[in-house]
Amino acid sequence: MQVRATPLDLELAQPFRISRGIQTHARNLLIEIEHDGVVGAGEAAPDGGGYYGEKRETMRAALPYLEEALGDDPFALEDITARLDKALHRGHGALKAALDMALHDLTGKLVGQPAYRLLGLNPDRAPASSYTIAIDAPEVMAERARVAAARYPILKIKVGTSDDVSAVRAIRSATDAKLRVDANAAWTPKEALRRIEELAPFDVELIEQPVPAHDLDGLRFVRERSPLPIFADESCVTPHDVPRLAGVVDGINIKLAKCGGMRNALVMIHTARALGMQVMLGCMIGSSLSIAAAAHLSPLVEYADLDGGLLLADDPFAGVAFDRGRLILPSAPGLGVERRR
Ligand code: MG
Repeated sequence: MQVRATPLDLELAQPFRISRGIQTHARNLLIEIEHDGVVGAGEAAPDGGGYYGEKRETMRAALPYLEEALGDDPFALEDITARLDKALHRGHGALKAALDMALHDLTGKLVGQPAYRLLGLNPDRAPASSYTIAIDAPEVMAERARVAAARYPILKIKVGTSDDVSAVRAIRSATDAKLRVDANAAWTPKEALRRIEELAPFDVELIEQPVPAHDLDGLRFVRERSPLPIFADESCVTPHDVPRLAGVVDGINIKLAKCGGMRNALVMIHTARALGMQVMLGCMIGSSLSIAAAAHLSPLVEYADLDGGLLLADDPFAGVAFDRGRLILPSAPGLGVERRR
């Protein structure tokens, strides 16, 4: 198998502010794997602030080690996943995910079937995705929410400033959309409880990552007292994190760029299920290529936050469509994604 890596520079339509920083561009990497004259594509979309330790430079440096572990049979996906995780034991989730996506795209093309069919999944069960409202002045967030809700009836509201309650109040007065709130680890446990009590009257469906990633005791403390369900995102990176979150949170947010791809995401989904947790599939800022890969798994989950491509000024790929937020999976072979430019 031959591997090619090309820079994929993406510009956001609007600056994307969360509690720990602001992002205006995504410096992603397009990974293409060729086998028997067929090319599969994947996208490495690391967290914009380098929170999980990856940047384009680290990905370029790590690629040769992972490339060596691919072997010559693209269908040996379980073996390849194990070899990739052995070659670079910790981290490099976004780069591993890009290779894994490209292999799922490639194998689907080689047998002429969409990825969801090879995974045995029913595309009619795909959930609706939320659309993210990034941090800004409360009145700006409310206006963006009002406009977005006409097409996406579930919104994810980023919080983590002194304006959190005003922002959610303003948004609630602008729309009756379903609201999910994501603090991106911004609060202390006690502060989280106070904020959640203040936010609950605005009909919020769930709270994502109220406290820092390492603070599982804090997460448990909040969950035991919170009137709203608590989901872990930053605290839940790889399959190994799932068992220790049982009893600590109500659900987990899985992202391919954290866990290393579709195979590891499958493990996490089924592990979470067995432990009685709910599952959300999320994304980093990426094009419709990485979004499609996650979307092919989405018939297995209740919650989706796969809006990365929707937030871009100019998405270079087309794949998943949205019907009032609901994910419509592409039925072309592999990931079913086409290049637009
Ligand atoms: Mg999150």
